[in-house]
Amino acid sequence: MKSPVNQQDLQKQDIAPGLAALVSPADGGIWLDLATYQRWLQRRVENEDEALPDTGSEPLAETSPQALFCPQCGALLQKYRLSSEHSARLDRCTPCHSVWIDAAEWAALVRTGSTHSLLQVLSDAGQRSIREAETRQRQHARYRERFGADDFARLQATRDWLNAHPQRAELLAYLQKPAD
Ligand SMILES: [Zn+2]
Repeated sequence: MKSPVNQQDLQKQDIAPGLAALVSPADGGIWLDLATYQRWLQRRVENEDEALPDTGSEPLAETSPQALFCPQCGALLQKYRLSSEHSARLDRCTPCHSVWIDAAEWAALVRTGSTHSLLQVLSDAGQRSIREAETRQRQHARYRERFGADDFARLQATRDWLNAHPQRAELLAYLQKPAD
């Protein structure tokens, strides 16, 4: 099998204990069979690879923005977002049930302890929640610009407090009343 990025031969290699994939010796790109991955998920003990806190690394930029073709069947690979923080995208062949993962993308999954959530990321719900998180982040950025970061943080804390308060309606009415 050849890399969809540079057409070089891929070699069988474990990308996590007990999880074999085809890896590019040139750039560390990974061709992962999702059926193999699913079997690995079922075998692994819950919390075996506990989530490590993400050490605030740089967002991953898109490394292969060009269209890639499946090295197995030649179909155009579909792009999937990895998370709302990264613009990097995974390339998936649905008929072959396989996915191309750049070395940096897999490293990001390992770093955030999310190697087990690949199927969730690739699901419609997973992609939707990534898009929603992104929209929310954009809105928050606009509010910060408009109100200032400090005031926006204060507003958010106040709203959370109000929403959780049993007398929310009365408190809101009081706030809207002219000062007495
Ligand atoms: Zn294919």
